[in-house]
Amino acid sequence: MTGCFILSMEWENRVVKMDKPEEDLERIEVHSAWMFDCNICGRENFIRGVRRESMEGDDGRVDLYVLYPREVACKFCEKKYETELSG
Ligand SMILES: [Zn+2]
Repeated sequence: MTGCFILSMEWENRVVKMDKPEEDLERIEVHSAWMFDCNICGRENFIRGVRRESMEGDDGRVDLYVLYPREVACKFCEKKYETELSG
């Protein structure tokens, strides 16, 4: 992936697992994603986040990073945008 920004966060305290399934279901991995609503056509777009880990210091803390692209294009109308994080 070229031209990426990096979002750093102390991941462990921020991950929230939603409700537990009531029946035994097949498991599937879910992935971090970025999304935006296109200003032209109004449709939702999702971009898979690229996760990276780094081990920090002697305390064993692991920082996780989720990369997001500098530019995106709507997959429906192909309008291109420069990205910024929502507040
Ligand atoms: Zn669009």
